[in-house]
Amino acid sequence: MELKSIKKIGVLTSGGDAPGMNAAIRAAVRAGFYYGLEMYGIYRGYEGMIQNDIKKLDSKNITHVLERGGTFLKSARSDEFRTKEGRKKAYDNLKSHGIDALVVIGGDGSLTGAHLFYQEYGIPAVGLPGTIDNDLSGTDSTIGFDTACNTAIEAIDKIRDTATSHDRLFFVEVMGRDAGFIAINAGIGSAAASILIPERKTPVETLVEKLKSRTKARKTSNIVIVAEGGKSGSAQEIADKVKKHLPYYDIKVTILGHLQRGGAPTSFDRLLASKLGVAAVEGLMQGKYDVMAGLINNKLVYTPIVKAVVGDKEVDEEDLRVANILST
Ligand code: ATP
Repeated sequence: MELKSIKKIGVLTSGGDAPGMNAAIRAAVRAGFYYGLEMYGIYRGYEGMIQNDIKKLDSKNITHVLERGGTFLKSARSDEFRTKEGRKKAYDNLKSHGIDALVVIGGDGSLTGAHLFYQEYGIPAVGLPGTIDNDLSGTDSTIGFDTACNTAIEAIDKIRDTATSHDRLFFVEVMGRDAGFIAINAGIGSAAASILIPERKTPVETLVEKLKSRTKARKTSNIVIVAEGGKSGSAQEIADKVKKHLPYYDIKVTILGHLQRGGAPTSFDRLLASKLGVAAVEGLMQGKYDVMAGLINNKLVYTPIVKAVVGDKEVDEEDLRVANILST
């Protein structure tokens, strides 16, 4: 492959925001300055690329952002970028600034956009896994996942105080859309009675039997973690079904929702984002295009974007086994 001389890199965040995105931007920009490159902020993701919301960054832009949640470049979803006309406008704007490579921080959709753009216009891109869902292959953990798990656990700890004080059964819905990673981590970390994930269907009868056996074992507070969008239904739907089997239970439902997205990134996410931000710029300089940078067993790995986004990341059977032993 022909190695392009890269002088100007555009950085953008796209899709749902995730804690650690700022740390990743800052690391990429700092690395770019270290190597004498010009760095550009593309605001509001692909939408800003189409609307030419692009500004040259200096070191002031990235001061005191490492520790902040969200993304100072802002994020957006752009339907126009899904069209050929939209991507043409985006390309013309990049060219007008002389930007010759991209660092795209986002989830599977954002990285798919970067891949398409590379195919159509040859703009080299390195993707960084920026999503709380942890649903990208090619990295053990995505940027933001650890923080989201910690936030969920902190919230569930508080809910447990009430569950214990009133002998209540709580159904707590956590984020994760089509992936149960947050549910499993938060569930094990908060001693959940049961964890319902999209990857597995749990019949309501199985859940009811488990809750009955816990009652026999005199476990008076019970927390069931439900990943949103799961095959078994929403937390409210499952709670309603369980209530029919266990009418004597005082059942409550809490949806953690967007509070899981924000907040200062954990040390783990800061470190991950910092390493991957540097890796993105170094990867581009070494001609690693159309790839996602990730850490597997703490080693830097570049995975073709098409492989990272296929959605085949499996939940860890060992985690499920441990969760089952600890909740019995
Ligand atoms: P999250 O995991 O938080 O949902 P995401 O990156 O998967 O993040 P999406 O909404 O799927 O979020 O994608 C973000 C943006 O990426 C879209 O609004 C769109 O602009 C672009 N994008 C996604 N898929 C494609 C595609 N197939 N072709 C072109 N652009 C795409």
